Amino acid sequence: SALSNSLAATDIASTMHPYTNLRQHEATGPLIIARGDGVRVYDDRGKEYIEGLAGLWSVAVGFSEKRLADAAYKQMLQLPYYHTFSSKSHEPSIRLAEKLVEMTPEPLTRAFFTSSGSEANDTIVKMIWFMNNGLGRPQKKKFISRVKGYHGITVASGSLTGLPGNHRDFDLPAIPVHHLTCPHFYRFGQEGEDEAAFTARLLAELEAVIEAEGADTIAAFIGEPLMAAGGVLPPPAGYWEGVERICRANDILIISDEVICGFGRLGTPFGCQKYNFTPDIITLSKQITSSYMPLAAVMFSEPIYQAIADNSAKLNNFGHGFTASGHPVATAVALENLAIIEEKDLMGNAARLEEKFQAGIRSFADHPLVGEARGAGLIGALELVADKATKRPFDPVGRAGAVANRIGHEEGLIFRSIGDQLALCPPMIVTEDDVAEIMARLGRTMDRLPAALAAEGIA
Ligand code: PMP
Repeated sequence: SALSNSLAATDIASTMHPYTNLRQHEATGPLIIARGDGVRVYDDRGKEYIEGLAGLWSVAVGFSEKRLADAAYKQMLQLPYYHTFSSKSHEPSIRLAEKLVEMTPEPLTRAFFTSSGSEANDTIVKMIWFMNNGLGRPQKKKFISRVKGYHGITVASGSLTGLPGNHRDFDLPAIPVHHLTCPHFYRFGQEGEDEAAFTARLLAELEAVIEAEGADTIAAFIGEPLMAAGGVLPPPAGYWEGVERICRANDILIISDEVICGFGRLGTPFGCQKYNFTPDIITLSKQITSSYMPLAAVMFSEPIYQAIADNSAKLNNFGHGFTASGHPVATAVALENLAIIEEKDLMGNAARLEEKFQAGIRSFADHPLVGEARGAGLIGALELVADKATKRPFDPVGRAGAVANRIGHEEGLIFRSIGDQLALCPPMIVTEDDVAEIMARLGRTMDRLPAALAAEGIA
C-alpha cells in the first residue's frame, strides 16, 4: 500500500495536493511518477504507463527531450535570470515574442509573458480594463464566458472559469462575468432540437444577454475553441462563426483561450483556425514549452496594444507584470521546443493521426456505459453514463470515473477522469503504433469497468 513506501508516507504527511479530496488522499496516497521516456512514464516501483494525457495536456515533445534540457542548461550558464520590467530585456524573450507573432494568426502582433495560463488570463482582464479606462469607457468591464469553460484558477481567471467545482465555497465569480450555456449538444441540446437549432439557440442567448446588459458594458467574450478541462467538448457546427459575427457587431473583443488547443492539438496550428474565427487576443501556455518550464503568453492585436501604450504614456507607467515575466530560461526552452515542433512537424503529425485517433475513441461509442465518444485532433473523451438510453449520469461526484482511472493505471494507461468523463490527450509525438496501444489499454480498461462498478455498488 501507499504507506509501505516511505516517500508516499512523507507526501501524505507534508503535501497539500491541488484538485484532490485531501481526506481520501490520506487513505490512498499518491501515484509517484519517477521518470519519463518518450510517451511513457514510470512510477517509483518501475511500473510503465503510456501517458495518455501528455502530463496535464502539455508535453508535446514527450518526456525525454534532451534538447530542452540542454537549452535550459545553456541559458542558465549564460544568464539564469533577468527581469523585463522598466524596458529591460534579453534575447530569448525578444526572440520568442518575434516567433509567436510569426506563428499566430494575422491580427496578433504583440506578446506579453507570464508563468501560467491563469496569470495570462488575469493579465487579459486587467489589460482590457486598463485599456477601456484609458479610452474613457470605464463601464465596459463585463466578460462573457460559458458554463464548463476553463480559464484558470486565480481570483479573476477562476471567475471566468465556468465550472461549479472551481466556484463553490471559493466565493467566485468575483468579477463581473456572465456564463452562457455550455455549447455541448449531447448534454445541453433540448428534446427534439437538432444541432443547427442548438447553435441558433445559443447564439440567440448571446444576443439576448448583450441586449439585456448593454453592449457598452461588455468588454470581451472568452472561450476555448474546444472546451478541454470541462470534458473535451467540441462546439456545434456554426457556433464560433456566429459568436464572432455577434461580437463584432457589438464591439466586444474575442479572446481565444488556446492554453490546450494551441500549437496543433486540434490538427490546425491554433484552435481558432479549426473553427474559423479570428480572435483579438489569444492565450498560450502548456505546449509552448511542453511544460518543461512554466510559461504562458498573451498575444494581442495591434489596436489593443496601441490603446494600452497610449494610456501607459499618459500615466507614465503600465503597472502590471511579474518577477518571472519573460523568464530567460523559460523563453529559451520555449524557443527550442517550438523549433522541435516545427522540425519534427508535430502539428502535421496531429493532423495525420487525427482520423486514427478519433476512430479509436469512437470505437467505444457502442460500449454499454459510454454515452458519448467525442473529440477532435489528438484530444478525445468518453462520457460514462449509468443509462445509455436516457443519458442518466452516474453520481455527480465522479465515482465511476475514479474507478475507471484506477483500472486504467492497472492497465498501464494514464488519462484524466473529469467527473465521469475520461479525457485523453496524448503527447504530440505519438506514432500510429502508440495510438493503437493507447486504444488497446483503454479497451481492456473499459472491458473491466462494468464488473468493477458493480462490485463497488455504483450504478
Ligand atoms: N486556460 C485553459 C484553457 C486551461 O486548460 C488552463 C489549465 N488547464 C488554464 C487556462 C490555466 O492554466 P494554468 O494551470 O497554467 O494556470
